[in-house]
Amino acid sequence: MTDITLPTQLFIDGAFVAGEGEAEKVLNPSTGELLVALPEASVEQVHKAVSAAHRAFDGWSESTPMERSRLLLKLADAIEARGEQFARLESLNCGKPYARALGDEIPAVADCLRYFAGAARCVSGTVANEYLAGHTSMIRRDPIGVVGSIAPWNYPLMMAAWKIAPALAAGNTVVIKPSEQTPLTTLLLAQVAADIFPKGVLNVIAGRGASVGQPLVEHPKVAMVSLTGDVSTGRKILQAATGTLKRTHLELGGKAPVIVFDDADIGAVVEGLRTFGYYNAGQDCTAACRVYAGAKVYDKLVADLSSAVKTIKAGLQDDPDAEIGPLISDRQRNRVASFVERAQMSGHMEITAGGKARAGAGFFYEPTVVAGARQEDEIVKREVFGPVVSVTRFTDTEQAIAWANDSDYGLASSVWTQDVGRAMRVAKKLQYGCTWINTHFMLVNEMPHGGMKSSGYGKDLSMYALEDYTVARHVMVKL
Ligand code: NAD
Repeated sequence: MTDITLPTQLFIDGAFVAGEGEAEKVLNPSTGELLVALPEASVEQVHKAVSAAHRAFDGWSESTPMERSRLLLKLADAIEARGEQFARLESLNCGKPYARALGDEIPAVADCLRYFAGAARCVSGTVANEYLAGHTSMIRRDPIGVVGSIAPWNYPLMMAAWKIAPALAAGNTVVIKPSEQTPLTTLLLAQVAADIFPKGVLNVIAGRGASVGQPLVEHPKVAMVSLTGDVSTGRKILQAATGTLKRTHLELGGKAPVIVFDDADIGAVVEGLRTFGYYNAGQDCTAACRVYAGAKVYDKLVADLSSAVKTIKAGLQDDPDAEIGPLISDRQRNRVASFVERAQMSGHMEITAGGKARAGAGFFYEPTVVAGARQEDEIVKREVFGPVVSVTRFTDTEQAIAWANDSDYGLASSVWTQDVGRAMRVAKKLQYGCTWINTHFMLVNEMPHGGMKSSGYGKDLSMYALEDYTVARHVMVKL
């Protein structure tokens, strides 16, 4: 697994260069071993990348949607052609099973690029008309300029695609900074993109948030900042953006409620939670992690879920049977463990599956179920971002809706019932960017992904993302 070449160079103005800043340790989370000490971008290199993107903007924004579409399709093909290499690297850097990275993520990345390649050519809107007699008005949707994109560590290549595809499709140029913990596939992406896009259109810089992300956000020539990350990072970015009043696009954390009514198919719920609560070791902003179970099904759900969760197989990247890998870092594992310890100490909650770190190397934590959680409990209120699902008993529909909405977060939710009328009524009331009915976690490129409340307000995927990366302008002609 470790015999693959690790990309370490930044990509600035069409050239591959070594970072001139401090070296940041990049680890293999499955073993804790050092993969590479990667020098991050210096502030001067951040500025060079922004200047390159700024210079490239004129030409790129003048290209036709057809031309941009063609290049995005080429990028999708090139990633797919090197899918195994991307998947190996992603799995090595994130600890996730190779089969999952190859089977789930690479196709999703390619499809995202292809969707936006098509979408670039299909933007629709208000028709030109004489809204004032003797004057013709029309709407333009124009690119914004240089987009500074900042990505998290849970799905590094996929998050890069979500950011790069709509931004470039719309005619913007991009400087992207992956997470300092997982920069490798985005650096490899630069190698693939180098032969496809004109110089300066896409730049990749690596490094930490404070030393590399912050100067990117503050740069006056960055017209828009797109972040996927923690709520606290979103706040910092908003503050940093006030100086230049740039557009921000924030995709932040989540704490997805899962409402299970008494008439739900409990077998399907258990299977769904076993998958959607623990996929990627629960390091997912939409993870099905906060279950509200009707009083009549609560006991069965807790029992069946706990048995099912005990069968989830965690393993090393190359283990073909591994369903999940470790957490991203020791720090993240300690954070997850401390949530579970505090739940255990509460006196009223019970750990019915898992509940401890796995012995040995790597940052593994056992898939865990916390039963008997109450609405006011920390485990119900705060994002754990690990393989931990809480279950809370509810008595009536109004209470379930109120508890589900009683959260700072507003990203994703699901409702499980056989009664379609009830499902639709509850879905309408939920203050979440997405509500699934009798499923969870499913994303498609044609539909928007994004939050409400502290989960942020930027939309990824779909035509709504293309709108976010463009500005609507009015042009009026006096006849
Ligand atoms: P994080 O906020 O710590 O880091 C995200 C990125 O922001 C990293 O690249 C980091 O270097 C950068 N950053 C940190 N401080 C910065 C600063 N001051 N200025 C500029 N950049 C800065 O998040 P993470 O730990 O990498 O990812 C986990 C979080 O991301 C979770 O909260 C999760 O819910 C969220 N997330 C959300 C979505 C979504 O679509 N809503 C998707 C994936 C992850």
